[in-house]
Amino acid sequence: MKLDTKSLRYLNPTDWRTLTAVETGSRNHEVVPTPLIANLSKSSVGDVQRSISLLAKANLIAKVKNAKYDGYRLTYGGLDYLALHSLQKSNAAYSVGNQIGVGKESDIFVVSDEKGEQRVLKIHRLGRVSFKKGVRNKRDYARTKAQKERGAGSWMYMSRLAAVKEFSFLKALHEVGLSVPTPLGQNRHQLIMSLIDGFPLRQIEKVPNPAGLYAELMDMLIRLCSLGLIHGDFNEFNILIREQDEENGEIKLVPVLIDFPQMVSVDHPNSEFYFNRDVECVKRFFSRRFGFVSTEDGPFFKDAKKLLGQDGIRRLDVEVEASGFSKKMAKELETYMRDHGIDGDAKNSEAIHEADESEASASDDDDGNENEDHHGGASDMG
Ligand code: ADP
Ligand code: MG
Repeated sequence: MKLDTKSLRYLNPTDWRTLTAVETGSRNHEVVPTPLIANLSKSSVGDVQRSISLLAKANLIAKVKNAKYDGYRLTYGGLDYLALHSLQKSNAAYSVGNQIGVGKESDIFVVSDEKGEQRVLKIHRLGRVSFKKGVRNKRDYARTKAQKERGAGSWMYMSRLAAVKEFSFLKALHEVGLSVPTPLGQNRHQLIMSLIDGFPLRQIEKVPNPAGLYAELMDMLIRLCSLGLIHGDFNEFNILIREQDEENGEIKLVPVLIDFPQMVSVDHPNSEFYFNRDVECVKRFFSRRFGFVSTEDGPFFKDAKKLLGQDGIRRLDVEVEASGFSKKMAKELETYMRDHGIDGDAKNSEAIHEADESEASASDDDDGNENEDHHGGASDMG
């Protein structure tokens, strides 16, 4: 989705109050009636009318005709503006640059801070996917009562949950020194992190030392597990490779892990499945791309889990839950993602694709046909 920031600097305080009023009203109203907008924005009716037409023209709110009354709803564009405005106020971002990634459920942009330093803005867009035939029919019933009640607001809520979750884990992982981007800010459905100057592993044709990089990635999976976490989407799209100059004049390839909305605790009922899938993804990719096959089996979940809490290692799954991303929120997000067939980049993975074909996986009934148009969903840098 485009992020058209051209009106961002022209909105006056009444416009912002009016936009915020539509957002606030959306919590309880699928269509926010005009008098309520005026009331919530604490502005005169005339001023609000002017703001409403400006906001509607810029597609930040949309007019909805209801059986009983006319009113407005917030659009994704409007939510984008509100979040960006807050991130600007907290100095996390100053200006928005190019889009560098379009995923199924997120958009990635380069932004700059006041000094011109580049950063990454990730905007979660759950619920924007229109389901393909077959999948839709099967999954339509999955809209829960709670979702229906929240109505149009549910995509906003779910996108925010995804951003809160991703930011919480990013912060926790960064704090313990795992190789991840630096978390710099989060608001609503958006988060800001440092820009990794590198490329997804997916785009790298050759590495000088595949065995070394492979070992590092497996160590990362084990380290995550020792901290109580499984990435759940650990593959060539979500591992960025950065070149680092060493003192001896050589260049070292440093893997940096991104994309955390599917992270699960080691206590999750399917944790072993996710762990093994992460391991398999790396194995298959290394075998196909670099012709590298490890002589060792594993790593195995049961061994990695033995490290849990040893020598005072922190439990990040527990810490993140305590810091505010509750079990209830985790469950809501997981259910939504499952019901909407959101399964991360693993499904785009070449390795998984071909493995599916050759092993004719019997367990996936409707998942196979979802892959087709998402090849290369993670876009190229630059
Ligand atoms: P999605 O959930 O859509 O897969 P990701 O977080 O994986 O979103 O980001 C999509 C793509 O955007 C990545 O594959 C990568 O190319 C780019 N990207 C994301 N975060 C960063 C970052 N911090 N630095 C550089 N590139 C990034
Ligand atoms: Mg990704």
